Amino acid sequence: MNFHVMTLFPEMIEQGLSNSITGRAKDKGYISFDAVNIRDYSADNKHRKVDDYTYGGGAGMLMQAQPIYDCFQAISAKIKENSEKAPRVIYVTPQGSVFNQTMAQELAQEDNLVFLCGHYEGVDERVLEEIVTDYISIGDYVLTGGELPAMVMIDAISRLVPGVLNNDESAETESFNNNLLEYPQYSRPEEWMGKKVPAILMSGDHKKVDEWRLEQSVIRTKERRPDLYEKWLEENKPEKPKNRRRKKLTKIEEIIQKLEGAVLYREEDDK
Ligand code: SAM
Repeated sequence: MNFHVMTLFPEMIEQGLSNSITGRAKDKGYISFDAVNIRDYSADNKHRKVDDYTYGGGAGMLMQAQPIYDCFQAISAKIKENSEKAPRVIYVTPQGSVFNQTMAQELAQEDNLVFLCGHYEGVDERVLEEIVTDYISIGDYVLTGGELPAMVMIDAISRLVPGVLNNDESAETESFNNNLLEYPQYSRPEEWMGKKVPAILMSGDHKKVDEWRLEQSVIRTKERRPDLYEKWLEENKPEKPKNRRRKKLTKIEEIIQKLEGAVLYREEDDK
């Protein structure tokens, strides 16, 4: 995966992503970052100006269309050397769809992604119309620039690129898989500040550990993210008693029965 970032602060992107897991993935060649300074494409050679006042008045400066367009053309030409597919071009903006894990998974399938980081009051609408394919926000608040949002997205997407995480850092059991948050986790020592690690985690019974973790995930999701819990519940609703063949509740059915406080069905329902 190659990330191309159009920015006024390329050093922010380089410094922010060159450490820890993303830095290691870059060194090993699983991902690459190309932070391109939009100022290098300013028509104004002397002052390298890239912003101007907004038509119609109002506070603040706006990033102009021409340097961004020329910067994008240079990036496009570079991408075309290795790929026939036109890249997705993401403008990070508070006016976009809010980023989530499903979007990260989808974007991780691409070979090249281009990010445009705005600054000041934002960007001249005409260049956005010309080059942008996706408008994405990282949340309902306004930041000073798009560099942090681009880094947040690149970090989340990178973790899903094959090879970036080691096996023991697998993304599969993490929060948002199947609309559940991850279960609580514990490391050594067995007892800390009078708090003991739940005994089941030391039992060596993998089936029981998995069931306990599933139950904890569901409980935690219901408490902290009722919106996600409702989605999970919808997807895991038990089948109607008349269609049932089994006598015993599955673990998921048991959990739902416990949390929803209702008897899902009795054994005689199967008769
Ligand atoms: N005037 C713009 C508006 O009201 O929508 C906000 C401009 S903001 C001060 C400057 C830049 O920061 C934006 O162009 C965008 O690239 C970035 N930015 C700010 N908040 C963001 C967010 N929540 N998600 C993604 N990008 C954001």
